[in-house]
Formats: sequence, C-alpha cells, structure tokens
Amino acid sequence: MADKGITSRTQDFSQWYLDIIERAELAENSAVRGCMVIKPYGYAIWENIQKELDRRIKASGHKNAYFPLLIPKSFFTKEASHVKGFAKECAVVTHYRLKESPDGKGIVVDEDAKLEEELIIRPTSETIIYDTFSRWITSWRDLPMKINQWANIMRWEKRTRPFLRTSEFLWQEGHTVYATEEENIKEVMDMLQMYVDFARDTLAVETYSGRKSESEKFAGAVNTFGVEAMMPDGKSLQFGTSHDLGQNFAKAFDIKFADKDGTVKTPYQNSWGVSTRMMGALIMTHSDDNGLVLPPSVAPIKVVIVPISKDENRDTVMEYCNNIVEELKTEIEEVELDARDFVSPGYKFNEWEKKGVPVRMEIGERDIQNGGVTMVRRDTNEKMFVERSQVLEYTKNLLNEIQNSLLNRSQSIIRNNTHAVESYDGLKTMMKGEKGYAKVYWCGDPKCEESIKAETKATTRCIAEEDVSGKCIYCGKDSKEAWYIAQSY
Ligand SMILES: [Zn+2]
Repeated sequence: MADKGITSRTQDFSQWYLDIIERAELAENSAVRGCMVIKPYGYAIWENIQKELDRRIKASGHKNAYFPLLIPKSFFTKEASHVKGFAKECAVVTHYRLKESPDGKGIVVDEDAKLEEELIIRPTSETIIYDTFSRWITSWRDLPMKINQWANIMRWEKRTRPFLRTSEFLWQEGHTVYATEEENIKEVMDMLQMYVDFARDTLAVETYSGRKSESEKFAGAVNTFGVEAMMPDGKSLQFGTSHDLGQNFAKAFDIKFADKDGTVKTPYQNSWGVSTRMMGALIMTHSDDNGLVLPPSVAPIKVVIVPISKDENRDTVMEYCNNIVEELKTEIEEVELDARDFVSPGYKFNEWEKKGVPVRMEIGERDIQNGGVTMVRRDTNEKMFVERSQVLEYTKNLLNEIQNSLLNRSQSIIRNNTHAVESYDGLKTMMKGEKGYAKVYWCGDPKCEESIKAETKATTRCIAEEDVSGKCIYCGKDSKEAWYIAQSY
C-alpha cells in the first residue's frame, strides 16, 4: 500500500523521486532557480558520504586544500577544448558594487564598478589549480603532487532536478601531477576503482566502469573513464569520472619540473570527481513507494526507538527504552529515541519509514511483558520479535544484512537490465520499452554514435570489452570493442 502523498514508482518515476525528496526532507527549491536548499537530514547523509570518501582519498595519499571560487576569464582560454566544453554554462561576474537607484527607490549595479577582467564562477577548478601548481612545482622533489578539494561548483542549467541536475552542486575534485605517464595512468585507474568500491561498499550501488567515448569525455582530457549506475527506470546515471589529462593542461599552464638528470620536463596530470549527484543515485536505487530507503552505512539514524505508552505506564516503558538505547550506543552511535509526546506512535512509524531509517523498534507494555522488543526492518518491512538479551547482537547483524541485501538488489538491477543486443531494430525496441544497458559492438565512428543517439536517445556510457570482434550495431563494419549504451540522466 502506497503511503499517502508519495506517487507510486511504477505510475510516475519522476514524480515519485521528487515526492521522496520532499517527504523525507532531503532538499527543496530555493528562490534561485536551479539552486537547491539541502535540508539538515539530506545534508547529514551527504556528510556521511563525504566522511567515508574523504577517508579513502586521504588513504590514497591526497591532501585537502582550497582554491578560489572565482577564476579569471583568461584562464579559461588557455586550454582550447576546455573552454569550448564549459562556455555554455558559465556564470560570469562583471561588477563588484551596487548603488542606490537614481529615483532612490531601489538598488542598481554601479557601472563605475565594472571589473577590468571578468571572473568566472568555477564550473570545475582545473585552470585555477594548475595556475597554482605552476608555482608549486619546480623540481622532481615536488612530485607527485596529490591534492583534493571539497567545494561548490556552478554550471548554469536550464532543466534542473534536485541532486541529479542543479546549477550549484557540491563535490570533491582530485588533482594529481606525476613525472611519468605510467604513474599517471595508474592513478587514473586507481581513483576510478576507488569510486567503484565506494559505490559498492558504502552506498550499496553496483556500477559499470570504463573508458568513455570521444564525444562523452571531459573537455581537455586525453581520456575520461566513467562509473555508471543503473537506475530502476532503466536509465543510466553517471556516478563519477576520472580523467587522464596527459600533458594538455601542463603545457597550457606552463607546469614544468627539473628532473633528477637536470633536464626540464613537462609532467602528466589527472583529475577525478564525484558530486551530490550520488545522492540522486542513492535515493533512486534503494527507495520504495513508502519513502526513502537508506543503506545503514550512510544513514544518519541507523536505529530509531519508538516507545508506545499511556500515562499510567510511561515511566516503565521509558526506562526500558532508555536501557536499550544505552546498550545499543556502546556499539552503534546513530541511535535515536523518539520521546516526543505530542505525536502518536503511528505518526512516528510513518515519519521514520519515509526517512528510511534502517531499523525501527516499537516498544510497548506487551513487549516488555514478553521480554523483548518488536523490530521492523525498513528495506523489507518485515516485523520480528527479538528477546531482550539478544537485542544488541541481533541489531548489529540486521544492519549488516540490510546493507548486503540492498547491494544484492542493486546487483540484480544492473544484471537484469543489461542485454547483449545484436540488431539495430532490437536496440530501437529496447530503448522504446524497458530500456537498460544494451551491450553492443560499435566501430568507434562518432557518426554511428550520433545516429544512435538521435534515433534512440541512447548514448555510449562506457566501454564494456576491448579486443573482441564483432560487427558495429549501426553500420555493420568490423568492431573490436563492445560498449554499454543506454539512455541517461
Ligand atoms: Zn559503425
């Protein structure tokens, strides 16, 4: 039975997604179109994502730093394909002062305060960071340079949707410089794998990963590698990217180092990032018609306890609940006792269900008499009675089981939505119907890719297999590569 207020997923996937965000209190629109307000509960999930990812980034030897929000316009013209790729979505700062309007009734831009050089609000930070690197790097002793930044980013979007596509979003961007091409490429792949592992272990989201096509690669990169996740509506979501920048930016920003033998060389660079878009993947992958479902590893509240009492037994029930909270907190930090006395237990059940708390305990006088607690797991809505002495062990196991079971579900979504397709008619039928990933041979010609996109709305997401042999699904020419193609967010 669908909760009132949440559109059924099968009826209208897109409205279902928006309803979850609203009812679980994750985010809302702001006065500025395309810029969302991330609410405390949504931000708490983001902080958990950030914490775990930051741990992994630091474990791989990167240090956090912070660079300016504003970038001189001239920086963008230094790498030709980079500027082309981002020009259409740049917000530009032209003035630095306002003044009272001549009629005294309002505020206008002060034309006397026009900037000599316009500034771009960062759509990504390669240019400003590499300008800095050109001063930080002079010798082989300065390499590798391994820097990460957590920041907000602005890319002006016309059609927006919370978390999936917003003009302002939050992300991390890693920027690394190496003396040799081999080391550089190894790291491009290592960071790609870090995202794959993070998605799987922490977010319980299974992905495909691999090289992107020329048309889908990052503006200015030699190669882009992407991580793609399959959403339950059959569309792919680009979860993260890792770019091999080669020497393109190093040359444009004059980054050089004196090697051990004294010769001056140009280093190799890579960059990689994931954003609040991951929240979109998390929400769509696990949630159901009753609201948000969260893997325990990122849930701000892992266990909620709802006491069910009347005036005459309130003290007894609360004491029993407090005792359980105390015991759980010895091993599980994120436990909440919902002691509000101005809403009914039924209201609370409903609220925590919508917010996706993995385990809910309902404790009333009857549970106490029976010597245990009633537990409900959010992912399956299964209800169980657990003996008091077993509560801590049982809860720990249950949280693990929920985490694993959500991953298994995500793995079947990606598996069941991937089909080897050999005929172009088959592809067209698939993209009109169930969608998902079509694994196809593609000759590599951008014209075939373009025609497929125009006719089926499906794009190449990432390479599936190299050094194979088959016939291009579009033109029939020999092909050595199989690709995952899908419609995407
Ligand atoms: Zn072809």
